[in-house]
Amino acid sequence: MKRFAAALAGLCLAAAGTTAVVAAGPAAAAPACSVVYRVNQWQTGYTADITVTNGATALSSWALTWHYTGTQSVTSAWNATVRQTGNAVTAESLPYNAALPAGGSVSFGLQGTYSGTNAEPTDFALNGVSCGDTAPPTTTTPATPTTPTTTTSGPPPAGCAGAAICDDFEQQTGGTPGGRWTVGAANCTGTGTVAVDSTVAHSGSRSVKVTGQGGYCNHAFLGTSLGSVSSGAFYGRFWVRHTTALPTGHVAFMAMRDTADGGKDLRAGGQNRALQWNRESDDATLPAQSPAGVARSVPLPTGTWSCFEFQLDGPGGKLRTWLDSTEVPGLVVDGVPTPDVDQQWLGRAWHPAVTDLRLGWESYAGDADTLWFDDVAVGTSRIGC
Ligand code: CA
Repeated sequence: MKRFAAALAGLCLAAAGTTAVVAAGPAAAAPACSVVYRVNQWQTGYTADITVTNGATALSSWALTWHYTGTQSVTSAWNATVRQTGNAVTAESLPYNAALPAGGSVSFGLQGTYSGTNAEPTDFALNGVSCGDTAPPTTTTPATPTTPTTTTSGPPPAGCAGAAICDDFEQQTGGTPGGRWTVGAANCTGTGTVAVDSTVAHSGSRSVKVTGQGGYCNHAFLGTSLGSVSSGAFYGRFWVRHTTALPTGHVAFMAMRDTADGGKDLRAGGQNRALQWNRESDDATLPAQSPAGVARSVPLPTGTWSCFEFQLDGPGGKLRTWLDSTEVPGLVVDGVPTPDVDQQWLGRAWHPAVTDLRLGWESYAGDADTLWFDDVAVGTSRIGC
């Protein structure tokens, strides 16, 4: 790891040298790149969503470099491999987003810590060429090629490399999940809690524990924006471990806001002791809660990790669901109304357009449960378990 990081420190120096050459040359043409750096910060940490727009030269792979002027320290990243040596940061493309056509854009994100001020970097360079002309280069000197003080963000967690969202919660340090995650409930919150947990994990040493309470308004969720991945058919996957068998009453452990359904939630959870999907807007269930319908679903095992996977095709109005890699026939919307399965669901046109993913607990009949979530992934191709 150190060896690789040291090599990168050298690369960064080379990039800075190239920048100087370009700045001194005739630079009247269109800029080589432009960068939008959007920060969301709290007392000691921040996330940054970074969008790079390429200039006139197509790139088969890319590396964006910059220097921080404060104490910023990158702790994790998504959609790029980000490394930091001193105040020099290099974000490298991943195989699935390496090709960057002329005029094309690519986005990635990172999370970090800081103290004092969290100034936006101004010296971005793409493949060694300064994005230039927005602000003068800062007076920082390139990091000397010494032992890196910080080496962060290796490859994404095993099992979801390449996915738009791929989070094993190992970067979470506080009690409450941060970074891309927001804790709360869209409707109302009560005594349910959401916390980073190091006693149980599917991978590594951390997961998120949801202590879900029964009764009105005890909703507790951690959520994240889905971004552009949900504009077409997409796959979601997470591992869940829970404590109390799915009850007879209606409960939900996942919700997604559907902007095509008045902003109401599309929910996954259980009823009649088996997994089900539910539409908040009209309370339609999948499968129908007839004995024949329930029999086509399955319970969610307790005291063990289960892999929950779904494919939601909003434009196509279709939905599929797998538990531990086996498709659940009662949790399928295939466009052809099937009695006891999706006949009720397809009683009206359905083309969901969901914008976020929330995991947690919502109970409508007083049922409580304690759940852990880990290894959450969302992507445009099936990720698997
Ligand atoms: Ca984990």
